[in-house]
Amino acid sequence: MSHIVIDKNRCKGCYLCIDECPKKLIKIGESVNNLGVHLAEFDDPNNECLGCAMCAVRCPDLAIKEVYRG
Ligand code: SF4
Ligand code: SF4
Repeated sequence: MSHIVIDKNRCKGCYLCIDECPKKLIKIGESVNNLGVHLAEFDDPNNECLGCAMCAVRCPDLAIKEVYRG
């Protein structure tokens, strides 16, 4: 099953990944990291992730550290 892993402590809360995902599977999360920002959160209840890595390529902080294509 395709999915991504976001590195909590690298995410700066720019949310560029949210616009980039063609399936709109990333949202602003409730939790706050050590930088004081609300983390981008992967939310894919229907297993729609394509494993395309567009989110990871767009992230300026290399915070989407893993992309699995299943
Ligand atoms: S693009 Fe990267 S730094 Fe920006 S919100 Fe998404 S994961 Fe966080
Ligand atoms: S890998 Fe593609 S489909 Fe999956 S969350 Fe990232 S941009 Fe969206």
